[in-house]
Amino acid sequence: MTSIFGSQAFIGFVYLVASALFILALKWMNAPPTARRGILAGEIGMVLAIGGTILQLGVEGKLEHIAISYTWIFIALGIGTAIGIPLGMVQMTAVPQRTALSHAFGAFCVTLVGTAEFYLGQRTGIPAFKMSVLCCEVILGGLTVTGSLMAAGKLQEVLPQRPITFKGQNVFNLGMLAVAIGIAVYLVYNPGATHLYPVMVGIALIFGVMLVIPIGGADMPTVISLLNSYAGLSAAAMGFVLNNKLLIIAGALDGSSGFILSVIMSKAMNRSFTNVLFGAFGQVAPAAAGGQEARPVKSASPEEAAGILAAANRVVVVPGYGMAVAQAQHKVRELYDALTKRGIDVEFAIHPVAGRMPGHMNVLLAEADVPYDHLKEMDDINGDFPQVDVSLIIGANDVTNPAAKTDKSSPIYGMPVLDVERSHTVMVIKRSMNPGFAGIDNPLYYMDQTLMLFGDAKVFVSNIVKELGGH
Ligand code: NAP
Repeated sequence: MTSIFGSQAFIGFVYLVASALFILALKWMNAPPTARRGILAGEIGMVLAIGGTILQLGVEGKLEHIAISYTWIFIALGIGTAIGIPLGMVQMTAVPQRTALSHAFGAFCVTLVGTAEFYLGQRTGIPAFKMSVLCCEVILGGLTVTGSLMAAGKLQEVLPQRPITFKGQNVFNLGMLAVAIGIAVYLVYNPGATHLYPVMVGIALIFGVMLVIPIGGADMPTVISLLNSYAGLSAAAMGFVLNNKLLIIAGALDGSSGFILSVIMSKAMNRSFTNVLFGAFGQVAPAAAGGQEARPVKSASPEEAAGILAAANRVVVVPGYGMAVAQAQHKVRELYDALTKRGIDVEFAIHPVAGRMPGHMNVLLAEADVPYDHLKEMDDINGDFPQVDVSLIIGANDVTNPAAKTDKSSPIYGMPVLDVERSHTVMVIKRSMNPGFAGIDNPLYYMDQTLMLFGDAKVFVSNIVKELGGH
């Protein structure tokens, strides 16, 4: 290890490049045209970070000190890779729960490292600053492990999606957190109190469960990005404990970007953070679900829909979760081609929380090579709907629900929605009259200008394309 590759200066340089790549990755991932480059930059940054850390262990002689060889490290890397590759191959609609699982893994690792540092430190004593960041690390890490597992379970529907609440829940939860923080303060002054450490970690683990059970399935993606933020902060704290600058930088980036994303998502749903965390959203939804009294709707066939589209000058496509489920994006691209070939102006209205994760629709449409400049954000297109001949809604529901603007008793009241009902004709592709994620009826379907196109999104769009003479 005497070569330049084993020197501290070289490792410092590798860490610097990795940090720069992480920052660039976040910047590039912000816009569809550069998103792939952003992901590649993040991946290279992570490879450099892992490589630098492995070299550093050798340089610092830590390997001999704690009697661990490179063999064990490479075995662990092999196991991690073997788990990571299939995890990366899940369906796009399962990405939120997959992300929650990786937060749980990351936070578990942080908690284990903190615990190892605590017990190793018993021999030499742990200074107050190190002990305080170590406590932050394991409390945040511990609650993120169980909180993320709960969130993943709710999204995968292996756990009930409905909020579970009881009287005095918030006081109970905050009380638990206060006890954990109290123990942490005691440990800072008495780091030798090893019997209290597992109690603190145990409370953090239980707190994670208690934090997530009162939150409904619909709010899980917001909760996941908040847990992402906690995982980042705990990793930054671990950076202080291990004196690793790269971890501090990466953890801080993760912590702040997760927080910003949660704020953006809450805004898009017109919910405050306190409302997401303590509001038990979704509780009222099942009662209002369904629209049981069968009100009449008008429906149309693919031929009729194709005729209406062909006669239009301006069409706005509103994609939603159903397009993702049906994997209809490539057929939607064919429809776009068939209509533009006829000189019809086609745009896509993108609601910030359409689908099940931020940017869900952008990713799917980019995959099908729909030109980015035809994707319009909600705020940019909402004023144009009165001039739109046909709004074609493909598997979207909640994001078009006018009750969000008019019905104060609706659980989504206040959420900004696409003003599709102001266009001349509205056509809605979905399989049934079943509600969407919020579990509520959509008055749009009963309006005069609305035609329901019942069927699977991919099949229906494909049939329209055939009628228009495309393939
Ligand atoms: P949605 O309200 O969940 O509605 C999706 C619709 O797609 C359903 O009504 C369903 O009706 C239809 N559908 C399902 N499979 C289909 C298929 N194979 N073919 C055709 N239609 C199909 O979806 P959305 O309008 O995109 O709204 C997203 C919801 O998720 C919002 O409530 C939002 O707040 C919530 N959410 C999103 C995020 C995010 O980051 N994107 C985060 C948190 C919460 P049928 O069963 O009748 O077919």
